[in-house]
Amino acid sequence: MNYREDLKNMKRIVVKIGSSSLTHKETGDLDLLKLEKLVRVLTNLRNQGKDVILVSSGAIAVGRKQMGLNHGRLTLPQKQACAAIGQAQLMMIYQKLFSEYGQKVAQILMTKVTMVNEPNKTNAINTFNELLSMGVIPIVNENDTVSTYEIKFGDNDRLSAIVSSLTGAKLLILLSDIDGMYTDDPNTNENAEFIDIVDEIDDSLEKMGKNTSSSKVGTGGMRTKIGAAKIATKSGAYMVIANGSNVNIIEDIIDGEDVGTLFVANEEDSFDLDEELK
Ligand code: GLU
Repeated sequence: MNYREDLKNMKRIVVKIGSSSLTHKETGDLDLLKLEKLVRVLTNLRNQGKDVILVSSGAIAVGRKQMGLNHGRLTLPQKQACAAIGQAQLMMIYQKLFSEYGQKVAQILMTKVTMVNEPNKTNAINTFNELLSMGVIPIVNENDTVSTYEIKFGDNDRLSAIVSSLTGAKLLILLSDIDGMYTDDPNTNENAEFIDIVDEIDDSLEKMGKNTSSSKVGTGGMRTKIGAAKIATKSGAYMVIANGSNVNIIEDIIDGEDVGTLFVANEEDSFDLDEELK
């Protein structure tokens, strides 16, 4: 079975981009060319009649840069303040870029407490569905300003898998600073082999999922990506981890090309998102 071919026909797609993919390594400032390209690629998918959801990190990274706090660790209140500042700035830039192509966008900030409680969860699903039926691209982030550790989803890899599950998306693309998954950390083991397709997430795969991301700005490593893959695939979505250094890779994935690591959908009727959120 050619799973890659299946990716050509996915109607509802979630794309997650992390802070490290959105900012220049040297300065921590936004990579505007990459953002412009991302916006063009996503709008083009919308123009093909697909439902598109963007999960974008970057709130804290943009806020700390704006406030000149780009070195050292931040306290929790500092992080939350930076997220409040950066999220607004980030949305302003997204809105400006998407509007150049006439594409409407919306901001959805999610907190875990709202997702485990009814009727909030149903309201969120209804809002996503309504926005998508209007042709809008929802831009999602965690509501970092009010989410402290104990009430956090964890990271945006996980959040994007939860969004896929809530919205019944059939494809989740995680754009990372690594080409996909390897049998070991390719930075330290030159014999590490690239994994093209994962059709079952077993213990050996989980062991391989060390924190292979060298990123200092985001929170997700390979372990969190495998966690996300479990949620996404059990909810019936395919998931691809791919290198976001060139965002045209999104089109390559949807054209069925052999890029990134593909986790095959493996829907489980017994899968309960509420359990995952506990
Ligand atoms: N929500 C955080 C932000 O926008 C990032 C979390 C993550 O990268 O996993 O700064």
